[in-house]
Amino acid sequence: MSVVVCDSQAYDSLIGEMDRLEHAITIHQELARSSAFAGGGDSVDITAEILERTEQTALGQHLRNQLQRCEDALRQLERDGKRKCQKCNKEIEPERLRAIPYTTLCSGCSAELSRRQSSISLSLRASTRRTR
Ligand SMILES: [Zn+2]
Repeated sequence: MSVVVCDSQAYDSLIGEMDRLEHAITIHQELARSSAFAGGGDSVDITAEILERTEQTALGQHLRNQLQRCEDALRQLERDGKRKCQKCNKEIEPERLRAIPYTTLCSGCSAELSRRQSSISLSLRASTRRTR
């Protein structure tokens, strides 16, 4: 008996995305290793290096997070044969899954979330400007 996958296209794009992410993580790890030996220089260089290292770590974290989301999405797809929105529990639109295979939200909830996030960052920016 084989696993029935209703949306094979969503499945394929998830597998493709995971391949891409695993590849990116490998490259990222190699880069982090090779730059680990590039010590020395004056304090400006060191500051730049620390900044770069911090960015690299954040990127690595981001890539691993995305991979984790892909794995979760894949498990859900294998279990339920479809992908459901984490928020409203409706099925996520196939065209949205093709664009962002690892998404956990439908387009409606995602639009609402980004609206809320942009208003939060706007009010944050406004409040930092006021305290100066
Ligand atoms: Zn939703």
